[in-house]
Amino acid sequence: LVLWLLVAVCDAESMQYKDPKEAISVRVKDLMGRMTLEEKIGQMTQIERKVATPDVMSKYFIGSVLSGGGSVPAPKASAETWVNMVNEIQKGALSTRLGIPMIYGIDAVHGHNNVYGATLFPHNVGLGATRDPALLKRIGEATALEVRATGIQYAFSPCIAVCRDPRWGRCYESFSEDHTVVQAMTEIIPGLQGDIPASYKKGVPYVAGKTKVAACAKHFVADGGTVRGLDENNTVIDYEGLLDIHMPAYYDSISKGVATIMVSYSSWNGLRMHANRELLTGFLKDRLKFRGFVISDWQGIDRITNPPHANYTYSVQAGILAGIDMVMVPESFTEYIDALTSLVKNNVIPMSRIDDAVMRILRVKFTMGLFENPMGDLSLANQLGSKEHRELAREAVRKSLVLLKNGNGKGDQLLPLPKKSSKILVAGSHADNLGYQCGGWTIEWQGVAGNDLVVGTSILSAVKNTVDPSTQVVYNDNPDPEFVTSSKFDYAIVVVGEHPYTEMFGDSTNLTIAEPGVSTITNVCKMVKCVVVVISGRPVVIEPYVNSIEALVAAWFPGSEGQGVADVLFGDYGFTGKLSRTWFKSVDQLPMNVGDSHYDPLFPFGFGLNTQPAKGM
Ligand code: BGC
Repeated sequence: LVLWLLVAVCDAESMQYKDPKEAISVRVKDLMGRMTLEEKIGQMTQIERKVATPDVMSKYFIGSVLSGGGSVPAPKASAETWVNMVNEIQKGALSTRLGIPMIYGIDAVHGHNNVYGATLFPHNVGLGATRDPALLKRIGEATALEVRATGIQYAFSPCIAVCRDPRWGRCYESFSEDHTVVQAMTEIIPGLQGDIPASYKKGVPYVAGKTKVAACAKHFVADGGTVRGLDENNTVIDYEGLLDIHMPAYYDSISKGVATIMVSYSSWNGLRMHANRELLTGFLKDRLKFRGFVISDWQGIDRITNPPHANYTYSVQAGILAGIDMVMVPESFTEYIDALTSLVKNNVIPMSRIDDAVMRILRVKFTMGLFENPMGDLSLANQLGSKEHRELAREAVRKSLVLLKNGNGKGDQLLPLPKKSSKILVAGSHADNLGYQCGGWTIEWQGVAGNDLVVGTSILSAVKNTVDPSTQVVYNDNPDPEFVTSSKFDYAIVVVGEHPYTEMFGDSTNLTIAEPGVSTITNVCKMVKCVVVVISGRPVVIEPYVNSIEALVAAWFPGSEGQGVADVLFGDYGFTGKLSRTWFKSVDQLPMNVGDSHYDPLFPFGFGLNTQPAKGM
């Protein structure tokens, strides 16, 4: 008995990994020394929420779980429902022999956008137009709190793509066509994760505890450079171009302690990034000294072969040997686990590669205090969609708006609009539609329509909130010319644009405004002075109509707080946003980026008229 007691005491004492006072490197080493191959491979496995039962978590030692776009426990699920769900999964992970907590990831890419009632910020293209890194940091802080409010500890954000062609359906996830703007916007990372302590070595991941989340810079690398903007396609560029345009934002992200980096579906000069050992290991890990973990994209390794999943064992081999540490499988996880296990047992993948991957994953988990605080609770529930966060989003909307035209330059500006008029018209498919305002990655993967699933303020409601009570506001989503002439409006606000979309469905060759937007513009603007507000993820075809419009505003996908649009239209604040992208005249010019020899834009990169706030209106 004495001997047994002695052994037990010694063992407890030497359980260094459980001791938060120990250095992270010591804890990682101690824990790894105790792990079997099975347990290690489990850490390298990320599975979808829908298959992550507590039994699966414990049986396969699963290291991570995700909600893919729109994968929610229930429509309009409350913070409590989310926390309970994540905790159930966590209990499964903790019930294992070593009790290693899982980390739960979600696409919180413009606020906590899968969650009903969350604050939804403008998408990145609009944030790029703010040119305000300090604002980005505050948005990161707010997003981290809202994500933590649901028990989740990991956000697949920010997308630091440098989108070079607006025909790409994910262009709105990119801050800018210009890498210096994207670099500046990586300030969202210290917002999400916290500021790295001065003593920190470059490349070491840092997440400051319970009110912060692990961030994910994505998609490594050159996702925004594919030919003709085709999603998941090939980026043809020389090494110098790669380093000059697409790599710089990764330097910044790594310097700011980004915990994880997601690999791009795209290829570089014909080689799938998921199989690119030179860049994932040689460049990112060896040269840039990135010490966080590299995660694959959703079924990203499957797509190493063409057609996808043609030879899955080969995919696992190529992906893991290239340097991927955690695979977002995310559903057929036993196939992945079996393949990886046999590759290791047959010495195709060396144990050193597995150890490198697991060390990186555990380092992130230890640094963020996951072992000490694995469970979510409701202490932050009031952060979800809080008044402060909505105010912040409203500020972001104001700063993201770009004024492209205001009269003909002869002192006949329509903006700012007077709050007091007799009758005004608000028209257009996007005027009273919160789903459209938010774009893709909102509640559903491809976004939603209407006002039921997003809590916020539509532009129509915002206009009504803002004008003098004596002003009559008439709303008609697509009025005919007769309606407009017979009603005598002082002016009209026309809100049109693109419908929500994202990857796989968002690529476009014509970049037109969704029907019947163009007829709404012509029907209204021919008859009455109008400001057109364009809701879109990228520049759209506007050149043919621009002369018939008094004022033109690019509002991007502004998110839930449409009040920010009215704040600026009616002059409570001035316009300050600058184009983060070149606005083309015709799609035949594409691709066309600032610096190109054929540069002949309708509105150049960096353009944006300013207005002064109309004090006392
Ligand atoms: C996207 C990623 C996203 C992941 C998880 C993929 O299809 O490319 O950006 O983080 O899904 O939802």
